[in-house]
Order: sequence, then C-alpha cells, then structure tokens
Amino acid sequence: MRAEPTDGAPRAELVVATRNEHKLRELQALLADHRLVPLPPEVELPPETGATFAENARVKAVVASRATGRRAIADDSGIEAAALGGAPGVRSARFAGEGASDEENLAKLLRDVPEDGDRRVAYVCALVHATPDGAAVTFEAGCKGTLARVPRGSGGFGYDPAFIPADLDEGDERTMAELTVREKDAISHRGRAARALATWLAGEAGASRRA
Ligand code: IMP
Repeated sequence: MRAEPTDGAPRAELVVATRNEHKLRELQALLADHRLVPLPPEVELPPETGATFAENARVKAVVASRATGRRAIADDSGIEAAALGGAPGVRSARFAGEGASDEENLAKLLRDVPEDGDRRVAYVCALVHATPDGAAVTFEAGCKGTLARVPRGSGGFGYDPAFIPADLDEGDERTMAELTVREKDAISHRGRAARALATWLAGEAGASRRA
C-alpha cells in the first residue's frame, strides 16, 4: 500500500457514506491514492428524499461527516431514460418499488422503455465531499449510452447489463457489465466525478501545504 499519492500530496482519509458494497469498491479503486473508510454501522443515513442527485449526496455526506467528526464523501447516482422524461433518475434504486432488487429495477426499465422508441439513457453521479462544519463541495458527472434490448454481462451492478456506453469505439456494442473494471472506470459517471474530486483534493492539499 502506498503511503503517499503519486503526485506527492498527502493522502486524505475519507469516510464513505454508503451501504452499497459495489459503490464502495468502485470508489476505493477510483480514489486509490486516498484512504477510504467504510461508514461505521451505527451511523444512520437519512432517507433519499431530495429532488436532485446533488441534494441527496450532500445530505448523506454531511450527516456522515458530522456523525464521525471526519471528512466524508457520498455518491448519489442513477439512470435517466429519455423516453421516460428522465425517469427513474433519483428513484433508480427503488424504481420497481421500495426494496426492489437490481434485477427487478432493470426489468422494469426494459418493460417501460418502448422497444422501438427513444432508447437513449444517461448515468449521472453527484459526489459530495463534506467536513464536520457542514461545508460541502459537489462534483457531478454523466455518461451517455443506449439501452440494450436484452441484458448482457456479469460485471458492474444495477443497470449495467443493459447500458451500452456511447464512449466505446465504433462498432463496440458491449454493455457496461461486459467491460473490465478499468474500462468502466475510464468512462463512467462515477469515474469522472471521482477524478474531479481527486484533482480538487490534490489542489486543496497543495493549498494547505503553502498556507
Ligand atoms: P443510490 O445512489 O444509492 O440512490 O442508488 C443508485 C442506483 O442507481 C443504484 O441502485 C443502481 O440501480 C443505479 N446505479 C448507479 N450507478 C450505477 C452504475 O454505475 N451502474 C449501474 N447502475 C447504477
């Protein structure tokens, strides 16, 4: 394990405000230069009642940071389907109902988007960094794609088996679930937001070294 990030800036220790193992694993790979700490089990996350990804992520990050007295990050993300006016959006995790599984949510999306209709989809991720004083900084990024008719692949999670990213080479029709972890990270909404956060953390560390 490295003691210092590759650019020489000090490692940040960040509590990750999520109970989603997949997100935690992806963020740990994306922010490998920093020490990511799982949310202590006793910290209760608030329900996601915000109208936007950024609002939901901010509330989770601030609650986690205040409860632990440490810097915290939270991700709120989901998929938007053009044919459904942007739904499921912030309701992506419970699209097929409260407590629905990834498979049930994906099956509902495939039912709801008309076979011969607009099959454009986009992933969105808001990643928020918060400190115990309540200060929060938001990094938001997206990833465009097309909804496959039949799910394929076993990587990733959630809607990945039916998400064909627009960023692949022409003729490459693989879904996110058929990409390697590195390929997904290079183009995903979470990858892009995490790289923006990493750049900001490096700048912040530089600023505090100079202060
Ligand atoms: P939340 O951010 O915990 O509200 O949940 C986001 C939901 O959006 C997840 O349960 C997934 O269904 C979906 N989602 C977010 N990011 C991804 C991704 O990278 N791949 C596939 N599905 C995702």
